[in-house]
Order: sequence, then C-alpha cells, then structure tokens
Amino acid sequence: MENSNKIFKIKGLIKHYDWGGKTFIPQLLNIPNPDKKPFAEYWLGSNLDEQFEKVPYLMKVQDVEKMLSIQVHPSKEVARIKYKEENAKGIPLDAPHRNYKDENHKPELLSPLSEFYLLHGFKAPVAMDKILKEVSELNFLQQLFKGADYKALYTKVMTIPQEEVNERLRPLLERIVPLYNAGKLNKGNEDFWAARASLTFNMNGNTDRGIFSIYLFNVVTMHPGQALFQDAGLPHAYLEGYTMEIMANSDNVLRGGLTPKYIDVKELLEHVKYEPTVPDVIAGHSSGTLEEIFVTPATDFQLSRIKIKKQEGIAIPAKKTDIYFVYKGNVDATADEQTEHFSPGDAFLAVPGTVVHFGSEEEAVVYRASEPVTT
Ligand SMILES: [Zn+2]
Repeated sequence: MENSNKIFKIKGLIKHYDWGGKTFIPQLLNIPNPDKKPFAEYWLGSNLDEQFEKVPYLMKVQDVEKMLSIQVHPSKEVARIKYKEENAKGIPLDAPHRNYKDENHKPELLSPLSEFYLLHGFKAPVAMDKILKEVSELNFLQQLFKGADYKALYTKVMTIPQEEVNERLRPLLERIVPLYNAGKLNKGNEDFWAARASLTFNMNGNTDRGIFSIYLFNVVTMHPGQALFQDAGLPHAYLEGYTMEIMANSDNVLRGGLTPKYIDVKELLEHVKYEPTVPDVIAGHSSGTLEEIFVTPATDFQLSRIKIKKQEGIAIPAKKTDIYFVYKGNVDATADEQTEHFSPGDAFLAVPGTVVHFGSEEEAVVYRASEPVTT
C-alpha cells in the first residue's frame, strides 16, 4: 500500500564537539547525559531518509559554552575555484589543513534561544577610532586606521610576529584578567571576552592573536526571537548561548584565531571583506499571521519562528520540503486526514504540497526551515 502520509517525524544528529554545553540539548531532546558529554549541536536536514528530497540547508540547535573560532566563509565563486585547486594539489578532503571541503558557500542565520553573544563584523569607523584610543595597548594601531583602512589594520594584527603579539597584549591581560576573575566585567564588553579567551586559548605561554579581533569586531548581545544573518566574507565568532541556526549545506570555514584548529592567515586575509558592519538584528517580520519569517538575501534557506497560542491555529503550506522543530509546548499537526502529536524536542518533515494545520492547548513555539518562495 502506498504511504499517503504528508508529515513524518524525523530524528537529527547529535554532535559532541568539546565546546558544547552538557545540559541544554539533552534536556531539550529529553535524553539522559550520565557521562556529562558535551552536546554542542543537534543537526536537522543532513540525514534525511532517502525517500525524501534532499534539502539545500542544514538547521541546527547549538549550545555554545566555550567560545568558537573567529571565522569567515567564502563566496560560492571562491569555493568552486579553491575546492578544485586543493583537489589538484592532492590535499585529502579530511586533511586538517584542507580549507575548502566542498564547492558551496555558507551563508548563516542565527536566532537565539537564550541571551546570546557573538562577534559580528568590523566596528564602524567611529567605534573603531574610539576603542583604538581608549584601550592603551591598541594605541599603536591608531595611525594605521587613518582613513578607515580596515585592510591595513586587520592585516597588521594578523601578521605581526607572535612575540610581538605576546608583548603587546601582556599588559592588557594583566589589567583585565584580575577584573574578569573578580566578576567585574560584563558580557557586553570586549574586555570580558578577551580575558576569557586568554584563559581558554593561551598555549605554551603564547597569547592568541584572535584577542585583537575581539576589540576590532562588534560584540553583539542578542535575545530570543531576534535573528542575524551572516554572509560570505563577514568575520564572526560565537561567544556564548543557545541558538537555532540555519545555513547552506557547506563545511567551508577559514579560521582566524581562538581555536586549536587549523588557521590559515593568508587565506583568511584574502577572503575577509574589509568594511564596517552595523549589526542588522532582525526583530522578526510579522506577516499578519503567527509566523515570523526572518527575511534574508539567502536563496538556500528561510527560517521562521511560529508562535501558536492556545486555541489559535495556523495553517502553513509547504512549497518544498519543510522541516519543523518543536521548541516549546505540545502541538498537533494535521495534514489532510493525518494528525500527529509532537512534544518539545520533536522534529518532523512536511512533504512538498502539504498544508500543515497547527493547533495547541498551550503556548507553543515551533521553528520552520524552508526555502524562500521565488516567483
Ligand atoms: Zn560561521
């Protein structure tokens, strides 16, 4: 008998990266964690059964306990060329120094599930001038940034010898680490993250040059319900918090510090966009229903946050394959004659052409991954 179902419960993949927290994802998925393993990410969309169409995106729940590397993702054009170059050089796909693992770009959108902190793009000129002046250990960069020369500034901090990095940053760290340890710094401030980074990443007495980036980039504080888009060339690093993330299917990451992983400064400097960024935090675009669509320029994915109120339903058509993640509350999803009940932590898929009717006896929050409708 042919399966006439339109919605299917699916299971994601858990990733135990060492930067992950130990409680948020296990509690959300309602699974025990007796060994106190780090649960960093829960991936949806990458491991779909072959009866379903492949989706061009990956949706992730993340628990960032330890800060992640400073990184930049390449454009699709660059990825295509460089992937072939690395193939031609015979660099194995799984080699630690392989930069380009596929031919795709990796635009990303995050939507926090808690208070969330990240580094996102270079500070605007006024803010940059201010911090280079106010933090005395960064005064030596003021002259370089005359004329808002982002390239000169960033190239300098990424290429000065390691001994100079140590010498330049030592007095800064001697000043801020005691304040950090005494709980006197707040998370909206660069000093907090610089101190934490120095305690996390200093190897063999060397100071991580990524600490410069903490001061040159925007430190952004975000809240649940908001979202932020990051396109090719925009330097960023996740610092702390829980988030829902969606991205194009790719593993192309160029790293610039705050990581024990492979760093390729030359490649990074070639693909960073040397321009100021004013963080464009999306509040959620209300489309007249209870679905808040986070509109971005990405053609690979669309994320929305659906609030279902008691006795107030919503019907959502799936133009292509849609993936849903139930974050809060118990919901009923009905397509044609089929009704399924889902609890927090459950994920399901709606096949193309389906209209899913949601209802709940309580307030519920559901995230939807889909592709933007283009007509
Ligand atoms: Zn990224």
